[in-house]
Amino acid sequence: METFDVIVVGGGLFGPATAYGLRQQGLDTVVLDDGDDVLRAARGNFGLVWVQSKGMGMHHYHAWSRESAHLYADFAAELKDGSGVAVAHRNNGGMHILLGETEREQRRREMDIMRQQAGVDGFECEIIEREDVEKMLPGVRLGDAVVGASFSKHDGDVNPLKLLRALHTSFRRMGGKLRTDCRVENIRHDGSAFIAETRNGCFAAPKIVLACGHGITRLAPMVGLDTPIVPQRGQVLVTERAEPVLGMALGNVRQTDEGTVQIGNTEEDVEYDDGTTLSASQAMARRAVKLFPQLAGLRLIRTWGCIRVLTPDKCAIYDESEEYPGAYVATSHSGVTLAAVNARHTARWIATGEMTPGFEEFSAKRFNKGIQDVPSHH
Ligand SMILES: Cc1cc2nc3c(=O)[nH]c(=O)nc-3n(C[C@H](O)[C@H](O)[C@H](O)COP(=O)(O)OP(=O)(O)OC[C@H]3O[C@@H](n4cnc5c(N)ncnc54)[C@H](O)[C@@H]3O)c2cc1C
Repeated sequence: METFDVIVVGGGLFGPATAYGLRQQGLDTVVLDDGDDVLRAARGNFGLVWVQSKGMGMHHYHAWSRESAHLYADFAAELKDGSGVAVAHRNNGGMHILLGETEREQRRREMDIMRQQAGVDGFECEIIEREDVEKMLPGVRLGDAVVGASFSKHDGDVNPLKLLRALHTSFRRMGGKLRTDCRVENIRHDGSAFIAETRNGCFAAPKIVLACGHGITRLAPMVGLDTPIVPQRGQVLVTERAEPVLGMALGNVRQTDEGTVQIGNTEEDVEYDDGTTLSASQAMARRAVKLFPQLAGLRLIRTWGCIRVLTPDKCAIYDESEEYPGAYVATSHSGVTLAAVNARHTARWIATGEMTPGFEEFSAKRFNKGIQDVPSHH
């Protein structure tokens, strides 16, 4: 049995970002991760550090995403120092490009609701005209149907696989332990410590953090927590490399630092089927060419499906168990966006108990307060 100050279950994005922060707090931390054959959103996502559409229905989640975006530049620089890996962070704003009046009206309505719920805290996102989009993307020809975009100065992006590598490497170099092929099968409490049982041994610590995406629903009840997670598939298309033209983060068509153009993102309710479909590829490619006709000349080289880790209201869940104090869950969609805030604030909460104002809103108890139609747990 190996003993630590904290066990973090999950080596995707939530786990390593939080574990990295826990090492910074001086805690002896181990990350236990499952094998390569499991669902892992950290390896199939779009790479956006995205704020503008986050938190419909819960402004605090919007503010949490915005806080993370603000922390990102320092965080990315720190990861570069700690690991030697540059995560290709851009923070010059982001646009969701709008095709036709119906899309513009719908986006305007959503933004009005978010502005109202933000109150004095403010909601900084605006609808801009087609000419403004042209100015922000010099050298790019827009499709005829483009009417404008919603723009937020808080948005940006990173290379998500480099982010994952930077987190793992920095954490290890700071003395953190990362154990792969260590699927946690069972968690028990012996009166003073949590014991996580894996096929490669047992690990004990007075604190345990469940940050293992879809794996949480099985483990959370073992520490007296109920954490509802809903799977949703996103398919992504990738083109061959091209000259860099799309100089800022865009919601559905993103040029990476390596030159490829990622086109996304479906939202499909297919349980845990992470396959791809030709119809989705066609629909995504057609829309991308409507936005940027010059993309029609690029070859598609890859496509994948990946299952999002969503909560019923698409906002984050952070909880400490009342039955077993010292056991925590941390989960959300947007693990790329939230990596900085998890490394800073979530880690501090776990290490010291200190919460940022309003943090308790993230408890999953909100799903039991008068919400009648919570989707079933998986
Ligand atoms: C198509 C798509 C596009 C996305 N785009 C974006 C984006 O643009 N921006 C953004 O911010 N987010 C995006 N996301 C979301 C982001 O990828 C996830 O929020 C993030 O990966 C969640 O991190 P996680 O660590 O909670 O889960 P995961 O990344 O899924 O990692 C979970 C880890 O836990 C491990 N695990 C599971 N069970 C156990 C167990 N019992 N014992 C040990 N280990 C276990 C798994 O092996 C895995 O490594 C996207 C997701 C998808 C699918």
